[in-house]
Amino acid sequence: MIDSFVEREQSRLLTELKEFLEIPSISALPAHAGDCRRAAEWLSAHLRYLGCPVVKIVEGKGHPVVWAESPHIPGRPTLLIYGHYDVQPPDPLDEWTTPPFSPTIRNDKLYARGAADDKGQVFCLLKAYEAVLGPNRQPPLNVHFIFEGEEECGGHVIFDLLHTEPERTRADAALVCDMSYYAPGWPAVYTALRGLCYAEISVRTLQRDLHSGTYGGVAPNALETLVRILSQLKAGNGEIHVPGLYEAVEPPTKLELDTWKKLPFDSEQFLTEEVTARELTGLTDRTVYERVWALPTLEIHGIRGGFIGEGAKTVIPAQATAKVSLRLVPGQKFADVGRALQLAVKNVAPEWADVDVTLLHGGDPVQVDVNHPAFDILNEAFESVEGRRAVQVRAGGSIPIVPELGLEGAPVILTGIGLPDDGLHSPNEKLTLSQLWKGIGIFARFFELFAEKGGNGTDSASPESKRKAAAR
Ligand SMILES: [Zn+2]
Repeated sequence: MIDSFVEREQSRLLTELKEFLEIPSISALPAHAGDCRRAAEWLSAHLRYLGCPVVKIVEGKGHPVVWAESPHIPGRPTLLIYGHYDVQPPDPLDEWTTPPFSPTIRNDKLYARGAADDKGQVFCLLKAYEAVLGPNRQPPLNVHFIFEGEEECGGHVIFDLLHTEPERTRADAALVCDMSYYAPGWPAVYTALRGLCYAEISVRTLQRDLHSGTYGGVAPNALETLVRILSQLKAGNGEIHVPGLYEAVEPPTKLELDTWKKLPFDSEQFLTEEVTARELTGLTDRTVYERVWALPTLEIHGIRGGFIGEGAKTVIPAQATAKVSLRLVPGQKFADVGRALQLAVKNVAPEWADVDVTLLHGGDPVQVDVNHPAFDILNEAFESVEGRRAVQVRAGGSIPIVPELGLEGAPVILTGIGLPDDGLHSPNEKLTLSQLWKGIGIFARFFELFAEKGGNGTDSASPESKRKAAAR
């Protein structure tokens, strides 16, 4: 029945998805605020078309959140579905083969900004839901949808909403479909995401810039001082010199390490095509997966100071700034690492310099317990369509909302139907259409299985109806 849904409806589904992708909902650019709202309205209209009796655009200080509830089916479990309708800016525009907001199919791939991250995957879940609707648009389980428009720009609307109304996260499981397969044919669930500690280190050594002929040899140079400080934060072998940094790290389990060793991995292809370097650096006595998934990092993102114009200007800079960040792994806390970084910089800063470390933003790492029965149900769905259960991997990046979705105790399933070469945040982002069609089948199967065994459905009233009751 699900297969025939995709076969029968394919051309309509493509028309709908293209319509959604044509809206340039770039959350970071104020000029596109209206487009973000249009994307939220497109989703609301679509959820209403799918028969949801509760569909709301929730306002906040930023782009709105879309909330919807399926018709209530007593005694059935509730699934919370999260996704985001905003996208990254598309530049550099001249690197796109076809324009980012004119979705185009080439070779079974649909090219557009947001095709994979995350509009295409949101669409996949909506269509899986449509595929399992029975007569009168009744689903086999209760589904609550929450879609935000600020995932890519670090906004707070969804955080504010879930902090004031945590009951919205009350569910038997939360499903986040914003990730990718490990490789073609290899579905994945994610057991951990790294956190982040982003800081600016600024150094002042003089009240004003000086002439390097007159004062060179005696005056402290702010850029040189900054570079010396930075060089002491990390050794040439990749070891980071921030006090207590490695002590807090919870090492991956033996099961995780064994699993990672068995994943297909082409180191030559990884080096030359993905990393595009001559050699990998860092803690070379650890495997690549330990280094990108299970260990903290320290990267310098940019340095500002002195003279960088055309030609030569002989100046001793008075002031210099560097932007740096650490990726954090389970066991570590953003606040602790921030303090430790401030201490590490203070320890190596010379007497003659005023040195400040400002923490710009960050978040804690996330760990997901994939032993919850909801993961078995998802694996059954993967197995029925893909012939393989999901591999358990980690991700090097972060999705800040994930811990909040588990506030009321629901297990948070992090998965997706993208492929590693989808080009998220890059020019020519794409979604492989065969993944979309398979994905609809996988999640439709998941909804059916979850309806049967995903929980006992004891929480009978929905958050919106409770809110209305409370207001009366
Ligand atoms: Zn995303």
